[in-house]
Amino acid sequence: MRITNTLSGKKEELKTLEPNKVKMYVCGPTVYNLIHVGNARAAVVFDSFRRYLEYRGYSVTYTQNFTDIDDKIIKASNEEGISSKILSDKYIAEYFKDACALGVRPATFHPRTTDFVDQIIKFVQELQEKGYAYERNGDVYFDVSKFKNYGELSHRKPEDMRAGARIEVNEAKDDPLDFTLWKAAKPDEPSWDSPWGKGRPGWHIECSAMSSSLLGDAFDIHAGGNDLIFPHHENEKAQSEARTGKKWVSYWMHNGMVAVKEEKMSKSVGNIFNVRQALKIYGSNALRMYLLSKHYRSPIEFSSERMEEAKAAFKRISNALDEINRKIGDFNSDEDTFTQEWRGKMIEALDDDFNTPQAFSVIFELVKLALSEERKEILSQIRNLFDEWNYFFGFNFEEENVSKEVDGFIEELIKLRNEARLRKDYKQADEIRDTLKKLSVEIRDSAQGTTWRWM
Ligand SMILES: [Zn+2]
Repeated sequence: MRITNTLSGKKEELKTLEPNKVKMYVCGPTVYNLIHVGNARAAVVFDSFRRYLEYRGYSVTYTQNFTDIDDKIIKASNEEGISSKILSDKYIAEYFKDACALGVRPATFHPRTTDFVDQIIKFVQELQEKGYAYERNGDVYFDVSKFKNYGELSHRKPEDMRAGARIEVNEAKDDPLDFTLWKAAKPDEPSWDSPWGKGRPGWHIECSAMSSSLLGDAFDIHAGGNDLIFPHHENEKAQSEARTGKKWVSYWMHNGMVAVKEEKMSKSVGNIFNVRQALKIYGSNALRMYLLSKHYRSPIEFSSERMEEAKAAFKRISNALDEINRKIGDFNSDEDTFTQEWRGKMIEALDDDFNTPQAFSVIFELVKLALSEERKEILSQIRNLFDEWNYFFGFNFEEENVSKEVDGFIEELIKLRNEARLRKDYKQADEIRDTLKKLSVEIRDSAQGTTWRWM
């Protein structure tokens, strides 16, 4: 399998650190509002890619974080008059609702920044001991001049970057490129004790500290939107490699942005850009279809026309399946010569840098074939292929409803509900219970804790 590595700018053969195992980290959302289609693209593309790796025989450890402390969260929580913890818990629960509806499987790990403050402090201390970090008035900065490969990932030269950069008046750093590892607390901000006084983690350090805690000092794939290449990923890489002195990540994968066409930036498009609204209007299959219809590295335009096209495309697939079911019922063929040939075409498409548009063209060739085919053996094999491939496409052919593959989300939602009850936020707790009900989950509270079952 070959994937484009942002570090080299080239397609490279996937060689994992351990045989048949992929350790993967995807930067997740900052949880202060509902996610938009841009957030959903990274979630769906890398969910689908993870499923494809599994389909190809890899065991995947998939980590996606939540940034639950930063300036935007503090600002939003002040506006709503609630703590940043309550605000971020609320939007983590909202994220799980959307991810669940989109057919995105729960990650192996969903770490939150505020659960890893100790590890972050230790990480920063190590950088300081090695001479890569310095403290000024309770802020700690990474010394970019000490790290010789800075700029390697984003293909920029530090000299060129320095020319356009400047130091803000309130910053005491030595070089405009130096970035914050630890921020001194301002009055009334959430803060943690540290060797540098009260403060909180900078943004980049969290991903380095959480990934090394959960995946080890080196892992296979780091992914995210291409807007994160600089400065976020460049800085993550610098800190991590400065700390260990070794290569950190083997492959960097970046998805393109979702662009809303300017002339169409009407109120209605603005509204459906929110995933919750888009799901309501078009359903999860159309949204998944839309997000996978272009190659993940390309930009993709978001508009109601594109969404209608995706909806129609999904309908063509589901109609073909209905037609096959009508023609052959329960008949199941033992033949697999046809299956093998077409499976080969699908693998060829997806092994080539996860080329989903090519994969869909394979599917639509089969759709066409299915509609003109009468032989039961062939129709049965086409149906088996659709079924097999849906492992990585993740459509829900049963109904426009959530799949039952959501245990991980349910546990997360129950945890959030219990936390809400502990702090006597019964409104939030009831809302989460209602969400679970919509997922056909019944929960029962007892002295031993909360249990759940499918309704
Ligand atoms: Zn990150």
